[in-house]
Amino acid sequence: MNNVYDLVVIGSGPGGYISAIRASQLGLRTAIVEKYQELGGTCLNVGCIPSKSLLDSSKYFFLAKNHYSSHGIFFEKLFFDFKKMMNRKNDIVKNINRGIKFLMKKNKIILYQGIGSFKTVNSLSVKEIKSLKEKQEIKFKYCIISTGSIPSCFPNLNFGNQIISSTEALSLNEVPNKLIIIGGGIIGLELGSIFNRLGSQITIIEVMDKIISNMDDSLSQEIRKILEKSSIQIETSLSITNILVEKNKKEISVFVKSKNEKEMKFTGDYCLLSIGRTPYTKNLGLENIGIHQDQKGFILVNDSLQSNIKNIYAIGDVIGGKMLAHKAEEEGLYAVEHIIGQKPNKLNYDLIPSVIYTYPEVASVGRTENEIKKEKMEYNVGTFPMKVLGRAHTSGCTEGFLKMITHKKTDEILGVHIIGDHAADMIMEASIAMEFRSSSEDIYRICHPHPTFSESFKEAALLNFENRSIHM
Ligand code: FAD
Repeated sequence: MNNVYDLVVIGSGPGGYISAIRASQLGLRTAIVEKYQELGGTCLNVGCIPSKSLLDSSKYFFLAKNHYSSHGIFFEKLFFDFKKMMNRKNDIVKNINRGIKFLMKKNKIILYQGIGSFKTVNSLSVKEIKSLKEKQEIKFKYCIISTGSIPSCFPNLNFGNQIISSTEALSLNEVPNKLIIIGGGIIGLELGSIFNRLGSQITIIEVMDKIISNMDDSLSQEIRKILEKSSIQIETSLSITNILVEKNKKEISVFVKSKNEKEMKFTGDYCLLSIGRTPYTKNLGLENIGIHQDQKGFILVNDSLQSNIKNIYAIGDVIGGKMLAHKAEEEGLYAVEHIIGQKPNKLNYDLIPSVIYTYPEVASVGRTENEIKKEKMEYNVGTFPMKVLGRAHTSGCTEGFLKMITHKKTDEILGVHIIGDHAADMIMEASIAMEFRSSSEDIYRICHPHPTFSESFKEAALLNFENRSIHM
């Protein structure tokens, strides 16, 4: 009975390890299989945590260089030590790695290191990474697949020393002189911000006519202005025709074509591809048991996150949708509660917040104005600029706004889109309000602490339901 479990989770990213903890807490004999020695998946090792660590370090440098003097703080000589910055990032990751291992032990979750590969619908092999030889066989009643995703690349290209993905970008030994970023989504903007603050010349090339094209247009326009002000070059509506590496000169040339067929060339010492992520199911043995995937390789699941084989669930990046850590976590909790026979609430995918950790931050939840227009719904919009807030002045970050969209008749909040200092933390007020289906009047009538950025909620709410605000 040693290798027999109620639940086996494959993958220890935020979806996987959180599912395992919840399962064990709810009484299931649980094991987790992870390919690498380090737990935590993309998020901890090459995603959320290392990027936020470098975003914070580079932000302090940027603020010290550009803002501290206005506070009366001066430096004789300001410089940064890139190696130390990277070591700090590595230490943070290692500490959290240890923390997750501790949580596995504390919750009596059995850890198998190796590649999990299905043999039958109730058993899998744990294989050596290199030789793919079976180390152990484990049996399960239920399984949750949480094997995540990897960075997408163009066909006929491979990531290497100069054409890099976010993974390599977060472990560079040097700050690029000229970094070309292909893809103006969340990852492109965050990594561009890090290296821009550290002195790289950044060019972002985007195929769509705007950056962060799946967020509200107002956010896209405003963050573009802010990034361009800090000398990030942003080029939109361009398609890539070729990428050439000139090894001797350590130079990369990116050839592009505009919509009217105009050809252009950008050069840099590195080219970061942030063009999306691909579901990761290599060596998982899905074909052995006939689990269905879509054309892009995402595992297909029903509303309860079950694959076509009902005792095998799939969650997180590997099933697509918003590829975010907190979405993977929510799905993991849901899957476990469904397995033990609880009746968890259906996940509300409309209310998964998105955040970009630029300076100021961008955060959004609910529907965009364009989506609401398409639904032909009548709506109100209240947009309150941060520069009116006392707190914005004391902090020195007066850029941005909070835009609230409400239903014209019912006053229900349909979407909130923020650019501003602390937007990442502020968006939770909107999520809670919308989860409880609040109106803008509800928000207006709640006392908000002064002076805070959260006062922008109250002001935008008043704009929505009375078309005026207190401070504007
Ligand atoms: P993953 O975290 O990808 O974990 C999958 C795990 O499964 C990996 O450890 C892998 O080794 C393992 N595995 C795969 N196949 C097997 C197998 N056959 N056997 C055993 N183990 C296997 N999201 C946010 O919410 N906020 C952010 O700020 C944020 N920043 C990001 C920044 C960057 C640069 C990147 C790349 C991503 C960022 N994300 C962010 C996205 C986030 O990292 C992912 O959405 C999240 O990690 C997905 O979790 P997951 O559990 O689905 O998969």
